[in-house]
Amino acid sequence: MAPTAKSYDYIVIGGGSGGSGAARRAAGWYGANTLLIEGGRSGGTCVNVGCIPKKMTWYMASVNETIKGAKHYFYDVPDDVKFNFDKFKKARDERILRLNGAYESNWNREGIELVHGTAKFTGRKEIEVDLQDGSGKASYTGKHILIATGGYPIVPADVDGATHGITSDGFFDIEFLPKKIAIVGAGYIAVELAGVLNALGVQVHLYIRGATFLRSFDPMIQETLTKAYEDAGVIIHKNSRKLQKVERLDSPASTPAAGAHEKRTDGASPEKRLRITDHDGGRLEVDELLWAIGRAPEIQNLDLGVPGIKLSQKGHIEVDDFQNTNVDGIYALGDVTGQAELTPVAIAAGRQLGNRLFGPPELKESRLSYENIPTVVFSHPEVGTVGLTEPQAVERYGQKNLKVYKTKFAAMYFDLYPAEGRSKHPTQYKLICAGPEEKVVGLHILGEASGEILQGFGVAIKMGATKADFDRCVAIHPTSAEELVTMR
Ligand SMILES: Cc1cc2nc3c(=O)[nH]c(=O)nc-3n(C[C@H](O)[C@H](O)[C@H](O)COP(=O)(O)OP(=O)(O)OC[C@H]3O[C@@H](n4cnc5c(N)ncnc54)[C@H](O)[C@@H]3O)c2cc1C
Repeated sequence: MAPTAKSYDYIVIGGGSGGSGAARRAAGWYGANTLLIEGGRSGGTCVNVGCIPKKMTWYMASVNETIKGAKHYFYDVPDDVKFNFDKFKKARDERILRLNGAYESNWNREGIELVHGTAKFTGRKEIEVDLQDGSGKASYTGKHILIATGGYPIVPADVDGATHGITSDGFFDIEFLPKKIAIVGAGYIAVELAGVLNALGVQVHLYIRGATFLRSFDPMIQETLTKAYEDAGVIIHKNSRKLQKVERLDSPASTPAAGAHEKRTDGASPEKRLRITDHDGGRLEVDELLWAIGRAPEIQNLDLGVPGIKLSQKGHIEVDDFQNTNVDGIYALGDVTGQAELTPVAIAAGRQLGNRLFGPPELKESRLSYENIPTVVFSHPEVGTVGLTEPQAVERYGQKNLKVYKTKFAAMYFDLYPAEGRSKHPTQYKLICAGPEEKVVGLHILGEASGEILQGFGVAIKMGATKADFDRCVAIHPTSAEELVTMR
């Protein structure tokens, strides 16, 4: 006879940003009897192959940029200061291991039960876990079940030899920087990794479908940043179509099947050599190819057909404003739903769901507002954006009801650079205001420290700030951000 499945108030599948936020709110704040199931490494994408290792690598690249610019401040710095990427990678990995542990000790402290293994539905309220330690399977039932399984980077199934390349997952395995890399994609991950590698001295070829990248951002950001990348030496292959093929010129040990999305580990190979053939027959030999063409929801192992969970056209789990799926008592949030795929969004959605399911009566209508979520791209220079782009604002309010304020300048940090150097480091800001009260409905900033600048302005915009409110705030001098409260 099969052993009875252990029961919980809350089963959370996925110990990434969303799952962790959800479980901690339910168990830590409200004492819900919670089981967290994690099939990979605790902390999920953000901690292991996303925000954290990406930002650490961005810092490393920024240090290199600062060293290169130090001569303008009369530091006697040689042109070819050496760095040890392999040592940096090792230190980064060690830091991440410590974060994995910190996640697990937080869960433990808050009374969350953790099981390592891959979960799937075997009933509407029943989950079976294939245990990671190889000891077999275990079954659990939950009154409430949350799916927070995230996503994975796509490798195209229709490009011959595509799996010779790596994705952002493989990028974090790289121990020896390639001398020359091709990156395919125009979203923020492509742009961030292209910027980091270029700043570290790698020759970067970026293949994009249009004339600019970051196509969902305001045109000012798209145009200025694309030009800044070209000025910084990134070779942008514009109006590219699907690559024809990718050939491996050295002898790889093995090649995964086309379309496979399992993590590649040979991104580190120093002798790797690839030849890519683009849509019109152009050939390029590179040491590495990185696909950054989007992410797909991680639902393959879940057997969602068992409870009958509905998917969107793009294959994400469909949810309403309260993170409910179509099946009573089953919820989804974070990247698996395709809603604003960002760590703090997944965490916030998890916390609100915990408030709603397990919190006091006054929180029974809790839900996350997906309006005015500030977003930063850790490009070179950084970009920050909150609210509507200008085309979106025109569509919503009509051109005649908008007033757009713009400014561009060279940040004071570059004052001592030669004129040519200054022009390669643009700062541009745009405020989009609607109606007679000039409510700020869009703010777009590009330049040094945009990531840090944006958070405070995000609060103001969430509160419904108007241009007059911005003007009433006394400037902080001398900063770049002061321009945002002195625009005419
Ligand atoms: C390169 C890169 C850079 C990024 N940079 C940023 C950034 O700077 N800022 C930002 O806000 N966001 C960033 N993101 C996005 C951010 O990482 C995600 O939005 C966030 O991690 C989503 O959280 P999640 O909980 O939905 O999923 P995840 O964090 O992916 O967690 C899902 C978890 O579910 C587990 N899982 C999957 N299937 C199963 C199963 N069947 N059983 C058990 N467990 C399972 C996985 O192992 C994983 O740990 C970045 C992403 C990438 C790829």
